[in-house]
Amino acid sequence: MTVRAPAKVNLHLGVGPLRPDGYHDVITVLQAVSLFDDLTATTLDPTTADPTAADPTAADPTAADPTTIDGVPSGDQDGVVVTVEVSGEGADPTARGPATTTPDVSIVPTGRDNIAVRAAHLVAEAAGITSERVHLTLTKGIPVAAGMAGGSADAAAALVAFDALWQAGLDRVALAGLAARLGSDVPFPLTGGTALGTGRGEQLTDVLATGEYHWVFALADGGLSTPAVYAEFDKLSEGRLRTGPTPADDVLAALRTGDPAQLGAALVNDLQPAALRLRPALRRVLETGRELGAVGAIVSGSGPTCAFLAAGATESVELAASLAGMGVARAVRRASGPAAGARVLEGPDGA
Ligand code: ATP
Repeated sequence: MTVRAPAKVNLHLGVGPLRPDGYHDVITVLQAVSLFDDLTATTLDPTTADPTAADPTAADPTAADPTTIDGVPSGDQDGVVVTVEVSGEGADPTARGPATTTPDVSIVPTGRDNIAVRAAHLVAEAAGITSERVHLTLTKGIPVAAGMAGGSADAAAALVAFDALWQAGLDRVALAGLAARLGSDVPFPLTGGTALGTGRGEQLTDVLATGEYHWVFALADGGLSTPAVYAEFDKLSEGRLRTGPTPADDVLAALRTGDPAQLGAALVNDLQPAALRLRPALRRVLETGRELGAVGAIVSGSGPTCAFLAAGATESVELAASLAGMGVARAVRRASGPAAGARVLEGPDGA
């Protein structure tokens, strides 16, 4: 069972002041783009142990309640064992130890901290699965800790894969409910397309968007931690009166026209000043893209990826080649949007 899920770019990210509960209200417009992670879930013989795998069910002695992580079952109580193997972006062949919080945010954990493993346990709980051994292969095309919601894409892919594999019969609403429990960014890659997100970003409404948009992404070395970027945002906002997140009217109007130049001019990211404070070198990347003819240039979400909107497909090819030639980015990727949400590529019977 292989499920493919897309990355996202925020066309608009309006962030409100820090709430007493530690979260921020946001008004965001998200577009799914054609950079994908593929998740393959395979059921293993329950009697066969995988000696190379980290044991995701090993109890964490430091956890106050080892049976849950942020309200999601950790897998310590069920008999469901999920092992993980990662290739592509964020793969680390040396990461074989027990699941711990890795200090390097750009490495994908292979234990129970992997958000796809957490998604598997949620579906197991919903489906009443108490004993299974499954192996996950993540082929990551989405850069890690890069502001493109790669982990959320994997979680969405895992929800779809395990719902199908275990015949849980969860409809879209039920899947979206589980997704919101895993993280504010997880419901969006389930549906894909272009959507308005409110609340913490998890309350999604379809938006009227016409046209296809051609993006070029400049990937950076290393990741940026989303909480660190929000903390920097709070520092920068201190003492300034902010009533609520910036509304997305300009981006929504531009999406109705389908005109990339209009959309490019309307892109907003309230987290960008914070990301630039933490990574000043990104200023030069954004300037370079603009000089090379991008109609829009913005830090993607919490960064450090820079997203450039091109006037069309041909312009995106030229922009990508020129940006790569300037050597301002670790890698350059082209993608188009809106892309579809998480979908099954291949079933257990090879269908
Ligand atoms: P956000 O969704 O908060 O904007 P992001 O898109 O910037 O985050 P992700 O690629 O989702 O970044 O990674 C965020 C962190 O999540 C990483 O530091 C990584 O250690 C952890 N993580 C857990 N599971 C995964 C996964 N399956 N893929 C990528 N990262 C994961």
